[in-house]
Amino acid sequence: MTADKKPRIVQKAPEPFGPLFDSHAHINSEEFDADRGAVLERMREAGLVGAVTVACDYGEVDKLLEVVDSAPGFLKGAWALHPEYEDRREPAVDEIVRICSDARIAAVGETGLDYYWCKGDLSWQRERFIRHIDAARELGKPLIVHAREAEDDALDILIAHKARECGFVLHCFGGTLETAQRAVDNGGLVSFTGVLTFKSAENLRSIARVLPLEALMIETDCPYMAPVPYRGRRCEPSLVGEVARTIAAVKEIDPALAARTTTQTARRFFAFDQLENASV
Ligand SMILES: [Zn+2]
Repeated sequence: MTADKKPRIVQKAPEPFGPLFDSHAHINSEEFDADRGAVLERMREAGLVGAVTVACDYGEVDKLLEVVDSAPGFLKGAWALHPEYEDRREPAVDEIVRICSDARIAAVGETGLDYYWCKGDLSWQRERFIRHIDAARELGKPLIVHAREAEDDALDILIAHKARECGFVLHCFGGTLETAQRAVDNGGLVSFTGVLTFKSAENLRSIARVLPLEALMIETDCPYMAPVPYRGRRCEPSLVGEVARTIAAVKEIDPALAARTTTQTARRFFAFDQLENASV
């Protein structure tokens, strides 16, 4: 995305239904600097009752907390050193624990394995992932797992390092039914983005059809991957309802049930109700 070719911005919130919860957004990213207040307003108008906003690098922690503070009881944060950032110094377990021990941070992530962008000897990536798992277990906070073309290896590591104890979600799920089922069988959740709404995603929809509704969360991973019918626009959390509608369509259930259940799951997973300001 370049400055001279900015995607169009959604001006009006979709018709509200819900309650909805965006389990993985990057509201703290610079793409929202100019109009973050309007983005938060459209979230509420669209029926969202909360979201987790994710920062991926050392220099982003202060801004993450500032954004969370701007919407108390509505936003929580997550932090990890992203698995694609090979050239950074490695955080020690203690450092991850220190950053993520803040009450405004609900989860450790996104962490995991990426064999799509990263090639060669990736032992550094696996070791980084294990340190984040150890930190999450020490904190008793759940893991948001990024696994791209690496789902089986990620699950091997999650299982070997007892991630079930803190909980984990395979975010932006793009793997096979077998992988999704293995995640669920081992205490994990599966989260779908707007990709689920894409014409080409028939395989993902067949996975969503089979998995138990209680094992699913929804997310935008905004600012990327706006769902149908908003493709080509900047993605934002107010559009997350399209993912719930698609889950409902493939399961042949009421969209309100898909919204309510994924929201309950997310609030429990992220311990949202233990907020100091439980105004939602
Ligand atoms: Zn993300």
